[in-house]
Amino acid sequence: MTRTKHRECARCAHLTATVMLPTGPICYRCRRDIAYHPALCPECFELRPIAYPSTSSYGVLVCAGCAGEESVFACAECGREDHPYGATRCARCILTERLTTLLTDPSTGHMGLMQERVTGGVSLSGR
Ligand SMILES: [Zn+2]
Ligand SMILES: [Zn+2]
Ligand SMILES: [Zn+2]
Repeated sequence: MTRTKHRECARCAHLTATVMLPTGPICYRCRRDIAYHPALCPECFELRPIAYPSTSSYGVLVCAGCAGEESVFACAECGREDHPYGATRCARCILTERLTTLLTDPSTGHMGLMQERVTGGVSLSGR
């Protein structure tokens, strides 16, 4: 028998399902909290979710990229961190999916007129 995967969040001490960071497990609420409130990374000077220990300075937290870690805040689909939305994907990917659903003709399962025009334009300008 395996024990439940629920652990205590290192950030808010809630006992819940967590994602693992090098600094300890955090809950999904904290993950979202950090993703929605990016801070200026002291190493790359970009607004990123800051939660990874720096490899060069002790006790300094930096973004996943600077720490050389895979970001738990990144979108599961495109890997970007700049538009967090929902649990695992970014606003852009969710919007794209919604648009695709809207543009797809349910009777054929193919993209409608609008999409064909867009792709046709792309191939024309590419020549
Ligand atoms: Zn938490
Ligand atoms: Zn950075
Ligand atoms: Zn995405």
